[in-house]
Amino acid sequence: MKQRAIIIGAGLGGLATAALLAKDGYEVTVLEKHDQVGGRARVFEQDGFRFDMGPSWYLMPDVFEHFFGLFGKRVADYLTLQKLDPSYRIKFAEGELVDFRADVDDAAAIFERWEVGAGDKFRTYIRQTEEQYRVALDGFVYKNYDSLLDFVTLKNLKDGRKLDVFRTMESSLKRWFKDERIRKVLAYQLVFLGSSPYSTPALYRLMNHVDFGMGVYYPMGGIHELPQAIWKLAQEHGAALRLEAEVERIAVENGRARGVQLTDGTKLEADVVVSNADGHWTDTHLLGGENQVYSQAWWDRRVLAPSAFILYLGIKGRVRELTHHNLIFSADWKKNFAQIFDTPELPADPSLYVCAPSVTDPTVAPKDHENLFVLVPIPPRVQPSEQQLDAYEDAILTFIAEQFGIADLTERIVTRRRYTGVDFEADYHSQGGTALGLAHNLGQTAVWRPNNTHPRVKNLYYVGAGTNPGIGMPMVLVSAQLARKRLKNDTSSTPPKE
Ligand SMILES: Cc1cc2nc3c(=O)[nH]c(=O)nc-3n(C[C@H](O)[C@H](O)[C@H](O)COP(=O)(O)OP(=O)(O)OC[C@H]3O[C@@H](n4cnc5c(N)ncnc54)[C@H](O)[C@@H]3O)c2cc1C
Repeated sequence: MKQRAIIIGAGLGGLATAALLAKDGYEVTVLEKHDQVGGRARVFEQDGFRFDMGPSWYLMPDVFEHFFGLFGKRVADYLTLQKLDPSYRIKFAEGELVDFRADVDDAAAIFERWEVGAGDKFRTYIRQTEEQYRVALDGFVYKNYDSLLDFVTLKNLKDGRKLDVFRTMESSLKRWFKDERIRKVLAYQLVFLGSSPYSTPALYRLMNHVDFGMGVYYPMGGIHELPQAIWKLAQEHGAALRLEAEVERIAVENGRARGVQLTDGTKLEADVVVSNADGHWTDTHLLGGENQVYSQAWWDRRVLAPSAFILYLGIKGRVRELTHHNLIFSADWKKNFAQIFDTPELPADPSLYVCAPSVTDPTVAPKDHENLFVLVPIPPRVQPSEQQLDAYEDAILTFIAEQFGIADLTERIVTRRRYTGVDFEADYHSQGGTALGLAHNLGQTAVWRPNNTHPRVKNLYYVGAGTNPGIGMPMVLVSAQLARKRLKNDTSSTPPKE
């Protein structure tokens, strides 16, 4: 008899787990509350535009390649990847506009212009980040941690020094570069990891290798092609999917997960349950009562990654001032992070991101139109009124138009939709409306992040951004491999070979 596995949620973590367990011979059923797969990487269509709802940066291509390789496939069997050149455009609010390419020499020349000697320092720095990347992926990221002893091994202490785990990103970068613009360029990715450079371990410098050494990719058709591809993999191995099937409760009997109950009352039995729903919701709602692992007070003390103020815009005519990925960096960087993490309020002079996928992909917008996705990181646990949001929307659009010099941006909008913290809560039961989950400060990384097993309930596992390794599509694919390692009692720290 095949073992039955139920997976709650068809986010990338749930889909990846479904594919892996189906390949291992489990009878897999994925239950998804929405009417499509992808979770935060869902898509919607409006007035001839197709909008990716969440992620837009396809980074760490080697992690995706490795994942598809576990099935004897290549990414190219499912996706047509385009390497973006430039990788992105940065507008410093106080002036300069610069394009960055996945080219160390090119970036070194820009940094040298800003700070004498920084070019050569950057070349040395980036070699170190490449080593950090290798150490992290070959020994840290693909490992399940159960106790501090798993983490504090001699090897890890040695490698941990290389990884710069115990210094913050900002203090590490300050040792290298005096020019604030350079530090901003090397730290901005933290926002995507849901963190501030003032509290995130310098381990995340490895993202600079990802950025300058590997480059930024885009799957033609949109990011949503990725969850579709992984779902296809899962289907090819026999996994089943039920859409619009929301789980209300995880059934636990005699210390074992026995199945789930849906909101419509349907009960489904299983030998293994894997939750891809947000960690807080799984713990406090799907489990709750005697099986809840952490108190609400504990959850309330967690540092949440930012929420997001998102606009999906259809623009008449092309917007030549933009490339595919565009960022505006706040003049007062420190204050901007403080407004997100310390003294929560809608940032007045924010750093923000504008994605224009139609620059690369004509299928996401009607002819002679541009598809724009605007994201402003805002604090979680604060919900501004509709009136405040309306005013913010106007201010943000004016700011973008001014910064990039786009004439008549607002007048050219032919379709629009706004998405904020309340929507993240409604769609994903996300704690405090966080867009991404738990922030990646040191206290919420590795052994200090909620584990992917329940301490008392057997055969219950967790997958996705809320557990290890954490936030972001590549990390979530790794989380699926970590859940599978649990099921196989595999305690290794290296990427699985099959
Ligand atoms: C705006 C935004 C931009 C981002 N940008 C990037 C980027 O550029 N690059 C990158 O790599 N990452 C990015 N990320 C992060 C990345 O998208 C996420 O970390 C990742 O997709 C999360 O995957 P997950 O497996 O944790 O599941 P999720 O995507 O959170 O999916 C969980 C699924 O579970 C379902 N579910 C929840 N509760 C239930 C229930 N009770 N019953 C049934 N189903 C349920 C939900 O409907 C959902 O489909 C971004 C995220 C956001 C929000």
